[in-house]
Amino acid sequence: MDQIMIGKFIAACRKEKKLTQAQLAEKLGITDRAVSKWETGKCMPDASLMPELCELLGISINDLFNGRRVTMENYKEAAEAAMLQLKESEEKKNRLLLDMEIGIGIPSVITLLELIVVVAYTAEVSVFFRVMVIVVGLLQFCMYVYYAIRIETDAGYYKCKKCGHAYVPEFKDVFWAQHIGRDRKLHCPCCNKKTWHKKVITK
Ligand SMILES: [Zn+2]
Repeated sequence: MDQIMIGKFIAACRKEKKLTQAQLAEKLGITDRAVSKWETGKCMPDASLMPELCELLGISINDLFNGRRVTMENYKEAAEAAMLQLKESEEKKNRLLLDMEIGIGIPSVITLLELIVVVAYTAEVSVFFRVMVIVVGLLQFCMYVYYAIRIETDAGYYKCKKCGHAYVPEFKDVFWAQHIGRDRKLHCPCCNKKTWHKKVITK
């Protein structure tokens, strides 16, 4: 969403309707300062004002968001641009999630190492304490592993190295799959073979 472009579009439509900023503001029951802010791209009209504003300017809500009149000719283009933007934000989110997985994975390994060190090298602790350390440590470790695999399943796709099919497998399949780094051996639903899959952000 380009606020500057939307602002210029509002100004152009207002002039087409032969309205001043003050006249448009009066019809909407707001200050002309607010209209000026929209037109310079400083802020967007309040959602509750949009239907009335669009009616006054003779445009659709879709036109308003696109910052231009969306006709049948440029409709496809406008839809594609919106889709692309959506996809980009989705990719960003997935990349962030996969980075988070590393952030979760490292403490999980540290927890496990700490556990081994405490239990193996501390001679003067009671059996009860040792058992408690093991139980708490293992629970924490399991929780980390669960979240890490949950993230790895949901963010992006697994791509079959044989046929190239990219999809989101079920959590349990990812959980039990043999893996090297993020590559996992999964049963591909497309070519029906048990092959190595690569983690990818895009299809
Ligand atoms: Zn396949």
